[in-house]
Amino acid sequence: MASVTFEHVTKRFGDFVAVNDLNLHIEDREFLVLVGPSGCGKTTTLRCLAGLEDVSEGIIKIGDTIVNDVPPKDRDIAMVFQSYALYPHMTVFDNMAFGLKLRKVPKEEIKRRVEEAAQILGIENLLKRKPRELSGGQRQRVAVGRAIVREPKVFLFDEPLSNLDAKLRVQTRAELSKLHQRLQTTFVYVTHDQMEAMTMATRIAVMNKGVLQQLDTPQNLYDRPANLFVAGFIGSPSMNFFPAHIRKDGNDLYVDADTFKVKIPEQRAKPYYNYAGREVIFGIRPEDIHNPQFAPPGIHAEPVEARVDVIELMGNEIFLYLVNGRHSFVARVDPRTRFTMGQQVQVVFNMDNFHIFDPAVDRENP
Ligand code: ATP
Repeated sequence: MASVTFEHVTKRFGDFVAVNDLNLHIEDREFLVLVGPSGCGKTTTLRCLAGLEDVSEGIIKIGDTIVNDVPPKDRDIAMVFQSYALYPHMTVFDNMAFGLKLRKVPKEEIKRRVEEAAQILGIENLLKRKPRELSGGQRQRVAVGRAIVREPKVFLFDEPLSNLDAKLRVQTRAELSKLHQRLQTTFVYVTHDQMEAMTMATRIAVMNKGVLQQLDTPQNLYDRPANLFVAGFIGSPSMNFFPAHIRKDGNDLYVDADTFKVKIPEQRAKPYYNYAGREVIFGIRPEDIHNPQFAPPGIHAEPVEARVDVIELMGNEIFLYLVNGRHSFVARVDPRTRFTMGQQVQVVFNMDNFHIFDPAVDRENP
């Protein structure tokens, strides 16, 4: 069993609380991604699990064993660092073999494990090279290979793709997902990049300011963010937020943002009847705002007027930065439309996919 459990884990550096009462259970063989902005405490969480930091309070378990007092080398984990931390004077083979040699694993066994890991990663032809003779992507593989040969119960990754160029990052994401399937081991992976989290994770733990905000599957985080912070963090471009009020008119409910008003469809209105008259934050993702001409069938919302402020052509879509009164927002629209700066346009919101946040609760959070 290689599940990982954090129970009420707090980590302080002096008076500063880097990780605040973290409760998190990671299932055996899960690909758990810890994501959040710089400084949110994700690396500290990983380092506590690795045993590189002592926790101030709480317990950490690997399987059923409490590891708080177990030294890092006996925790049966392997960590891949952002810097890769390869020994420059050693060959790739020796870099990968180093940990096993220290553990006095027999030579034949070391050779077998290194060759097997090299084959999994497609670096068999690099085993005699030194790190300086490798590209960034190849070094990254060697760092992963060094973890694989340890045959650990849990793999820890600390932003392992951040030194790679954009194209290689995308490619390596897919390779890490395949590797996870092949090894059938628990992966705990830290990144600030929500795209990395969304594409690889079986579940994502979103952190902010040392506090776990939400733990869920990528799809659920996207569809049902627990608060404003998660809503704004997951998705690119970010969800649009509008300060607004809920208004009731007969049996109909509306989101009233002063300079525009949109009806809440009947099938989604029920939870919001007792919000009537209240201040809310209305959220809608850029991909749920359409040019009426190319809106998916079934969207009957009344159009919203806006002025085109900025146009970003992405090839397969257009990011339109729009202004309506005091509101600025972004729409991801069909590339077949032609827009000009300053043009007055109409857009429709897909009100099947809107979000409502309670500012009283959420103001605390972001
Ligand atoms: P990044 O993506 O920038 O690495 P992170 O989410 O991984 O950010 P951590 O490295 O976990 O963040 O740091 C969390 C907070 O704890 C930061 O404010 C950091 O300055 C602080 N911190 C981390 N290590 C120490 C330390 N050894 N002493 C004091 N403060 C620390």
